[in-house]
Amino acid sequence: MASDLQHTLAQPCEFDPGVGLHTGRTMRMVCRPAPADHGVRFCRVDVPDAPEIPATLDSVAADGLARRTALEIRPGVEINTVEHLLAACLGLGIDNLRVELDGPEVPLFDGSAAFLVRTLLKAGLKEQRRARRYWTVARPFVLRDEQAEVIALPSEGLRATYFADFPHPAIGVQSASVDVAREFREEVAPARTFCLEEEIKLLRDAGLIKGGDLKCAVVFGAHGPLNTKLLFPNEPARHKLLDLLGDLYLLGRPLRGHVLAWRSGHRAHAAFLTRLRKELE
Ligand SMILES: [Zn+2]
Repeated sequence: MASDLQHTLAQPCEFDPGVGLHTGRTMRMVCRPAPADHGVRFCRVDVPDAPEIPATLDSVAADGLARRTALEIRPGVEINTVEHLLAACLGLGIDNLRVELDGPEVPLFDGSAAFLVRTLLKAGLKEQRRARRYWTVARPFVLRDEQAEVIALPSEGLRATYFADFPHPAIGVQSASVDVAREFREEVAPARTFCLEEEIKLLRDAGLIKGGDLKCAVVFGAHGPLNTKLLFPNEPARHKLLDLLGDLYLLGRPLRGHVLAWRSGHRAHAAFLTRLRKELE
C-alpha cells in the first residue's frame, strides 16, 4: 500500500456460511472494523465470554502447523486455517480487524483468497490516523532445516518468492514471486489450495480435511489436475506463496524485506518468523 497510515474496514462485512476444510464444520464469519494498533484478532462468538485470539506468533497452537496454521488462546479454544484470510489482510493492507467466528476454523470458500479479497473490498477500507510501524530487514537472515530454507533480505517494500520442489511428476520444481503491494490481488490471491490424490486418505486418517469434498481444491493425479484446470501453470507455487504471506502476517507488523522460501510449510515459517522477530527486536 502506498499509504503509511493504518487501515481497517469501512464497515462490517458478513460472509455467507462456509465449510472449514479440516474440521468439516459450517461456520459464519463476520469481519468488523477495529481501532488503530488493535491488529487482527479472532473472536470465538460460540464460546462463553467470546474469547479473543490475536493473530500473532504467540498464539500459534502447539500442534497447529500441520497442513494449516491454527491459533489458540487456551486449550480447546482455537481457530484453524487462518492463513488465507491473513494473506488477504496483508495483500490489501488491512492492519486492524475483528474477525468473529462461530466455530473453530476460517471457512475455505473458493480454496484461495480471491473470494475473501472481493468481499473485504466490497466493505471498503478506511484510513486511520495512526502511522504503521514496520519491521525492516537490515541484513540477510537465514533459517535452514533438513527440508526447507527461508531467507529474509533487505528490500524497500515487501516482496516474497517461493520455490516449490514436490517429488510429484505433475508439480515438480516451480517458483512464484510477488511485489505484494502491486501484484497480490491478481497474481497470488486467486491461486487455490491443492493436494495429491494419494494424500487424501492419509490426511483423512490424520483427522484433517473433514470438510474436503475438494471442490475448492486442485487435486493432482499422476498426470495433472483431476478435477479442474489450473488458473496458472505454477498455481501450486503461487498458493504456497499465499500461505507464506498469511504466516508473515503473524509477525504483528508489516515487513519491509524480501522473503524467499524453499520447500517450506507452516512449521518452517513459524520457526523462521519467531527467530526473525527476535532479530528485528
Ligand atoms: Zn493454503
